[in-house]
Amino acid sequence: MANIKILPPNIANKIAAGEVVDRPASIIKELVENAIDAEATEITVTILHAGKEMIQVVDNGCGMSEEDANLAFERHATSKIKSISDLDHIFTLGFRGEALASIASVSRMELKTCLKNEQMGTLLKLDAGNIISKNKLALNQGTVVTVKNLFYNTPARRNFLRADSTETNHILKALKQFFLSHPDIQFIVINNGEEIFNLPAASQDERIAQVFGQKFYDDLVYIREELNDIVLEGYICQPENARGNTANQFIYLNRRSIVNRSLSHAVFQGYGNLIERSKYPQFIMFLNISPNLVDVNVHPTKMEVRFANERVIYHLFLSAVRKAIQKEEMVPEFSMQSGPREKEEITNHFQPMRFSRTPQKKALLPGNDIEDPDQTKITFSNTSFNKPSDENESSAGEETSTHSVQAALWQVHNRYILSQIKSGLVVIDQHVAHERVLFERILRFLEEDRNVPSQQLLFPQTLDLALEDYLVLSENKEWLEKIGFSIAELSGRTIVIEAIPADVKVGHESKILIQILDYYRENEGSKYQPHEKIAAAFACKNAIKSGDSLSLVEMNSLVDQLFATKEPYFCPHGRPVIITFGLEELDKKFKRI
Ligand code: ADP
Ligand code: MG
Repeated sequence: MANIKILPPNIANKIAAGEVVDRPASIIKELVENAIDAEATEITVTILHAGKEMIQVVDNGCGMSEEDANLAFERHATSKIKSISDLDHIFTLGFRGEALASIASVSRMELKTCLKNEQMGTLLKLDAGNIISKNKLALNQGTVVTVKNLFYNTPARRNFLRADSTETNHILKALKQFFLSHPDIQFIVINNGEEIFNLPAASQDERIAQVFGQKFYDDLVYIREELNDIVLEGYICQPENARGNTANQFIYLNRRSIVNRSLSHAVFQGYGNLIERSKYPQFIMFLNISPNLVDVNVHPTKMEVRFANERVIYHLFLSAVRKAIQKEEMVPEFSMQSGPREKEEITNHFQPMRFSRTPQKKALLPGNDIEDPDQTKITFSNTSFNKPSDENESSAGEETSTHSVQAALWQVHNRYILSQIKSGLVVIDQHVAHERVLFERILRFLEEDRNVPSQQLLFPQTLDLALEDYLVLSENKEWLEKIGFSIAELSGRTIVIEAIPADVKVGHESKILIQILDYYRENEGSKYQPHEKIAAAFACKNAIKSGDSLSLVEMNSLVDQLFATKEPYFCPHGRPVIITFGLEELDKKFKRI
């Protein structure tokens, strides 16, 4: 008897569902894609409890006949391709014919659909992928898909779902991708009974402003580059608006959102050395290319694609960004050939260790806080360094090295602190060391239920938050206030920052708050409780940076405070703070023993 069996369709669908639909956001993605493919001009997405209770997508697209509605739930049932050759010129978002069958197999679903110019439409009810009832009824043109009891028959997956705010964040990310690529469609989003988006059909430019706000749009730089039939069009941010994560990097291939790290890197490279290594530019790129030059069928969720000639596309991105940056005079003089990053690496490698007090980075644009020497000072004087106020100015140049030798502390590359210890040598990463100090300090306040000292702003800052930032803020307002922020809420998602932690520089209040919210969201999987996450976010964002030069007094103070913490060896995310080299290890390396 044969051991191998062909799986029955309901099991095959459940397996496929594992790939295509892993959380509410991916279901919404598939349903909205179907609505777009059906040429809807208006799409309404309704969510209850982050999609765990209900997801509904309503469109006014072409609808389905009764026969098609039945077929749509079969695996590999699609109206979008008919033959293998169709795979070479796909203009629709879907084509694999898997989504409806997969989603239906892990939920209770209802489909209402009606063709144009028909009075009566079809209502199908499904349970775990099986059609349990079928009716005819009067409907408007278009399709309504309602998904309930998601993953009720795959408990492992259901248990894997995260907090509502996290799942909602993923949903909003997915929706935003469609908002940007389909400005001609009106999108309405209703979250737990509240209409959170209503974006009327608009031009591309208007749509960007609708989604991110007018100011964000006004700060963007338009780019366009063509090569034969390939057209790249898009918008990039000013270098100083680069962020700590990739959330606002959008790449579309023929209006399909894709993820492609190499192309994101090309954009980054296009800025030359204007963006710091740990930052990511924000951009929205639309690449239009003949479908036969790409393979979109390399990934079940169609997020990744393969280009016939990726190098050409890479250079198209790179040169489009370079040209735009030169034109905007963001850089005074720009050398096309020099790879600034590689260059920096090489110098770093071959320079002997030295004690430097001058910032090593080339002059950047004003507004980039990394290069703002004032901020560094404030951070020190107010936070936790007991540094005499004029120390920074008075000890300059060579003097430092003499001092350092005496105290046996040296700063190298404005990044690491070296010190001799009994058993050998330690190297301390200054940024993570300070992060650890600030983290424990704030936690101490929070755990003792005391408020971190705060400063009232003379000019309170009004801020329009993006929804995902707003959700994190509302969830953590209590903690933010404990660490020194005072935030009033106006209507909608407008807030006023009235006070900030004492050690945040005035003028940076909006920036640091956004960075904290951002950081909180991007570290969703961390092991910490919310208040620890807020403390970690604040510590990371307010700590001295790699690149800040430190005086001897500052170094001493930092090292003292570091060793007074509970866990001096690891930063809040588990990165090492201190590396030691034993004397024996050094002796061995030098072949003394
Ligand atoms: P695919 O989109 O890859 O073809 P799906 O499982 O998502 O596969 O959908 C199967 C088929 O059902 C589609 O090819 C389309 O013909 C039909 N369909 C799905 N959703 C809609 C909709 N909202 N409006 C009209 N037709 C739809
Ligand atoms: Mg589809």
